[in-house]
Amino acid sequence: MTSRSSQPEECLGGADDIHGLLARFARFGATPGGGVTRLCASPADGEARGLFAALLAEAGAVVTTDGVGNQFGRFPLAGIEGAALVMAGSHLDSQMRAGRLDGALGVAAALDVGRGLMARKRDGARFDADFCAVNWTNEEGARFRPSLLGSGAYAGHHDAAFALSRLDDDGVSLGDALEAIGHRGRDVAPAMAACYLELHVEQGSVLEDDGATIGVVSRNWGALKIEAVFEGEQAHTGPTRMGRRRDALLAAAHAVTAARALADRWPGRLHTSVGRLLVEPNSPNVVPARVSLSLEVRSADDAVLAEAGIRADALLVSAAGAAGVGLTVAVRSERPIRALPDVVCDLVALCAETAGHRMIRMDTVAGHDALSLLGRCPVGLIFVPSIDGIAHNEREATKAADLDAGRDVLLAAADRLCRAGGSPERALRQLGAAA
Ligand SMILES: [Zn+2]
Repeated sequence: MTSRSSQPEECLGGADDIHGLLARFARFGATPGGGVTRLCASPADGEARGLFAALLAEAGAVVTTDGVGNQFGRFPLAGIEGAALVMAGSHLDSQMRAGRLDGALGVAAALDVGRGLMARKRDGARFDADFCAVNWTNEEGARFRPSLLGSGAYAGHHDAAFALSRLDDDGVSLGDALEAIGHRGRDVAPAMAACYLELHVEQGSVLEDDGATIGVVSRNWGALKIEAVFEGEQAHTGPTRMGRRRDALLAAAHAVTAARALADRWPGRLHTSVGRLLVEPNSPNVVPARVSLSLEVRSADDAVLAEAGIRADALLVSAAGAAGVGLTVAVRSERPIRALPDVVCDLVALCAETAGHRMIRMDTVAGHDALSLLGRCPVGLIFVPSIDGIAHNEREATKAADLDAGRDVLLAAADRLCRAGGSPERALRQLGAAA
C-alpha cells in the first residue's frame, strides 16, 4: 500500500476515477503550460461548476447552491429527514497560471467519496448521517479579496452581502460575476456540518522530505494580511525634478525590501511576502500616483507573529515617509494560530495507518477552507505530497499513488463518520474497537 508510483497523475486521466475527474476539471481554464487559470466566477469557473453539479446529480446527490455560490451535493445515505451531515470538499477556483490540483483535488475526491458511499449503501451498508460534497466560492482570493469568502460566509465570519459586494480589479462585484455565470444560487445553505473533512495538496515539501504519504494537519500557522495604499502625486517622469516627486511605487519598493528583511530576522520561523501591486496609472512616462499593495506575514509562533505584525505596520509607515507619500491601510486581517481537533486528527491518522500509509502530523502554513470552519464544527485537513513542494505554479503535481492514497483515506474517514452519526468521537471509538 505504501508503494509509490513514479508517474505523475497525468498518466491516469482516462478513467472515471479520481484521476479521470481531475483531468476533466483541468480542462476548464487550461493553460498552455499544463496548469489552469480558473479565477473565481469566471466563465471557466462556471464550466467547472456546471460539471461538478452534473456529476453530483448523476451520482444521486441533491444539488443546491447558496446565495454566495457555494455548491453542495447531499448524498442521502441515512434515509432520514434532518440526518447529521458529514461534509467534505474544497474549491474549484484557482490562482493565475496555477496547478490543476489545488482545490480541485478536494472537490473531485469528495465527489468520488460520495459515489463510493452510495455504492456501499446499495450493497447494504447502513449509515446514520448523510454525506455532502462541497465546492466553496473564492477560496483563493486571487480575483476577489479576502480569500475564503464562501466558506467564511457558511461559517458565519461575514454575511452574504459582504461577500457579494467584494470587487475585482475591474470593479466587478462577486455578486454580479456569479450572476453572469448563473451560479449565484438562491438556496439556503445546509445546517452546520457535524464534521468537515478536506483533502488538499501540501504545497510544501515536508511530506516529501519525510517520505510520508499522508499529512494529518494538527495546527495552522497564523497570518496577518494587510492591504495598503500609497498615495503620491502623478507627474511627468521626464521634466519633473527628482526632489519634487512623490512616487507611490518608490514607497512600495521600500516596503517590499523591508518585508523581506523582516523575515530574515526570524529565519525559518517567519514568512513574509508582497504578492500583489496595483500601480496607477502604470505608464512608463508617469510617476506612479497610487499603488495598492498586499503584504502578508505568517508564523507558527505567537510572539514572533505579534512582534512581526507591529514591525509590518511600522515598515509601511516608514516606506511612505521615505518616499514622501500618503499611506492608507484599507484592510488588516489576522488569522490566529490554532490547533485542529485531536479527535478528528486521531480518526484520520488511524484510517491512514489501517490502510498501511506512512502518516505524519504537521502544520499547514497556507490557509484552507477547513480553517474557516475550525471552531464551528470538528474539522480534519488531510495533505498528500506535492512533488518538489511546487505550488501556485503550473508545474504543481502529485504522484498518482499519493492521490489514490489521499482519496482512500478521505473515503475511510467519511465512511466511519457516516456510520457514527457524524460524530468523530463515536467514529474513533468504533474504529478503535474494530482494530
Ligand atoms: Zn487550495
